[in-house]
Amino acid sequence: MTAPRREVDAVVVGAGLAGLYAHHRLRQLDLTLQGFEAAGDVGGTWWWNRYPGARCDVESMDYCYSFSPEVEQEWTWTERYATQPEILRYVDHVADRFDLRRDIQFETRVTAATWDEAAQRWHIDTDRGNRVSAQFVIMATGCLSAAKQPEIDGIDTFRGETFHTGRWPHEGFDFAGQRVGVIGTGSSGIQSIPVIAQQAAHLTVFQRTPNFSMPAKNFPLDPESVEARKAVYREHRQRMRESRAGVVVPMPEHSALELDADARQATYERAWATGTLYGMVAAFNDLLVDRDANETAAEFVRARIHEIVDDPEVAERLSPRKHPFGTKRPCLDSDYYATYNRDDVSLVDVRATPIVEITPTGVRTTTDEYELDAIVFATGFDAMTGPLLGPDITGVGGVALRNKWAAGPRTYLGLATAGFPNLFTITGPGSPSVLVNMAVAIEQHVDWVADCIAYLRERDLASIDATVDAEDDWVDHVNEVADLTLFPHANSWYMGANVPGKPRVFMPYIGGLPRYTEVVNDVAADDYRGFTLTPVITPEPERSASSAH
Ligand code: NAP
Repeated sequence: MTAPRREVDAVVVGAGLAGLYAHHRLRQLDLTLQGFEAAGDVGGTWWWNRYPGARCDVESMDYCYSFSPEVEQEWTWTERYATQPEILRYVDHVADRFDLRRDIQFETRVTAATWDEAAQRWHIDTDRGNRVSAQFVIMATGCLSAAKQPEIDGIDTFRGETFHTGRWPHEGFDFAGQRVGVIGTGSSGIQSIPVIAQQAAHLTVFQRTPNFSMPAKNFPLDPESVEARKAVYREHRQRMRESRAGVVVPMPEHSALELDADARQATYERAWATGTLYGMVAAFNDLLVDRDANETAAEFVRARIHEIVDDPEVAERLSPRKHPFGTKRPCLDSDYYATYNRDDVSLVDVRATPIVEITPTGVRTTTDEYELDAIVFATGFDAMTGPLLGPDITGVGGVALRNKWAAGPRTYLGLATAGFPNLFTITGPGSPSVLVNMAVAIEQHVDWVADCIAYLRERDLASIDATVDAEDDWVDHVNEVADLTLFPHANSWYMGANVPGKPRVFMPYIGGLPRYTEVVNDVAADDYRGFTLTPVITPEPERSASSAH
């Protein structure tokens, strides 16, 4: 006989920054919780992505929780851009300090969530046989957590070691003396290539699309500047929340086309020197909306690549010309372009000579065969929707989320999807998410969800469900704003273009964090406008024979 389902108030899926904060906030509401996490411990993306050179490219003092002024004061970051191990230590510290592991079962993947209309609850199943019933489900599953293997024949035949940057072995791997191939030149490739090059006997980089990358100019943080920030941390956090991308950057006043060439060049030089992602992207106010303006930034970066890389042919191969600057996520690097000046590093353009297959001994392209001892797939993720469509999620009327989203994700505010009551998506598609500092986006979403749940419980409401009309309007708005920009012109993971067969839809909301926050707060203040709130359905008492007449 099947065991009865364990009843809790909420299931939280994922134990990265989002899941952990959800545990913290929901516990304050006295909810009973069950967390599930596929990884062996807390950390989410920082638990999985342990590849050489992995760092955050948002500054460490900005990429961390703001909910606890105490943690903010007691934790001291050591570098401008924290390494993956340091971030994991930080997450570990927060989890310990607030006892956040208590309700989490690790090494457990949620396989299904099914809405039980009569009970107004979710039934959750896992790959370890857990059976849970919960009023709420919080999908804190991350935007970039479903690692994507490349569609290349023969991977399984390779006799050497293979790795995916997003699933790196915890014991690490020493590439000393090895002939290594890296496939992919997104952020993960660009961060790992310089470090792998230092270890390997020879590194071959297989590049399909060159990316725009800027120097990180990382440095150890000195105690005085850390103390200075800590002294004004609260005010700084507020400014972050009020900033378009969740980091404080001066808003540009000028169009790139308003200035003469010298003044424009000087602006780009200053932006490049900041060593920040947003410095260059926000150097002018029209880089992401005007092709000609954008081209000035693209040309500036290409000129830097040609300056750094000795061989002009290699420099040209590394120069992006097919997508506007900033429309595929740009990268921050440490000596990426200079790595191609090493004698033991070579660059293969697999757009010109595509990979045909992986053989037992290496990679075969249409023109050459590369003998390798190890291959690193830096091939990215089924972003944003991948983690949400992994489990079988079935809503009202037996509708599968996979079917509902077959033509692309549809959400109301990136927080909920119509027909799936009480299921919340933290930094879901249709929210600013990956376009802003994720730490800020996560806290904002979890706070909104916790406030919503508190509202429902105070009023004895059983469920909240987005209306189809509100969702349609929001999806239209997300698309309209995206269409004002150059983003839809790139084959990026923002557009789902990196996964064969995935609908081509711009998934995040590009209207900026302050505008978005205003909208979602306004919805909440207006008694959750655009949602249907349903009271607890009490079953009709069975009529006895005597009362029937
Ligand atoms: P990505 O940006 O999607 O890059 C994947 C790379 O693999 C691309 O160059 C892609 O080429 C290439 N690729 C995929 N399939 C291929 C195939 N079959 N043959 C040849 N090349 C193939 O993935 P990512 O580098 O892991 O980064 C994903 C996101 O994670 C980033 O954009 C960023 O948001 C986040 N991230 C952040 C940090 C950080 O510092 N905070 C670090 C790493 C990652 P195409 O471009 O042609 O598709």
